[in-house]
Amino acid sequence: MKIVLLGAPGAGKGTQAVKISARFNVAHISTGDLLRKNIKESTELGKKAKEYVDKGLLVPDELVIALVRETVKEIDSFLFDGFPRTIEQAKAVDDFTEIDKVINLDINESLLMERLTGRRVCGDCAAVTHITLLNGADKCGVCGGRLLQRADDNQATVKSRLDVYVKQTAPLIEYYKKQNKLVNIDAGREAADVFKDIESILKQ
Ligand code: ADP
Ligand code: ZN
Repeated sequence: MKIVLLGAPGAGKGTQAVKISARFNVAHISTGDLLRKNIKESTELGKKAKEYVDKGLLVPDELVIALVRETVKEIDSFLFDGFPRTIEQAKAVDDFTEIDKVINLDINESLLMERLTGRRVCGDCAAVTHITLLNGADKCGVCGGRLLQRADDNQATVKSRLDVYVKQTAPLIEYYKKQNKLVNIDAGREAADVFKDIESILKQ
């Protein structure tokens, strides 16, 4: 199975991707995670990508496409999370493989700024949480590790990520609708309810 998870920053792609990958045994391929790993390790790609990621801009298509192609070379069941993000990237995917289903996490944009600026990530186990769930606690509820804020989850960078989404990524909804692959899911609900809908769609 080859799945694409679409949605604005903060729609919950990462959270759902982890659940989908466990339930349906597909490799979770997040370009955001791959890029952050390269940035952390200061690889050649990481050095190039950092200036874009820090500003909330998209990393150039050719870099991301090459990264994904290399990553999925020997994998035939996967879930793309945060990729493709431009029409150019979607066309590149169509050139090297056939996607089965595209799940669009549909959410009211007014919820996104709050979701993203309040997001915290555990530095040890990578669990994701939100300040409204922490009641002032500063430790990870899963492992007790230290909670961090992603460098690009500040208000200015989130604003630019949301603009980029509207201009460059939202057109993919139409692109995949035309291919009859798009399924819309209301992502403004609790993660467990969102997942139930996704599960029933992928079971078909
Ligand atoms: P979010 O979807 O919450 O914005 P991600 O972790 O998916 O977060 O992406 C973080 C950043 O990584 C993006 O703002 C962008 O700079 C870069 N990035 C991730 N995926 C892509 C992609 N497919 N094409 C270009 N840049 C990307
Ligand atoms: Zn943790």
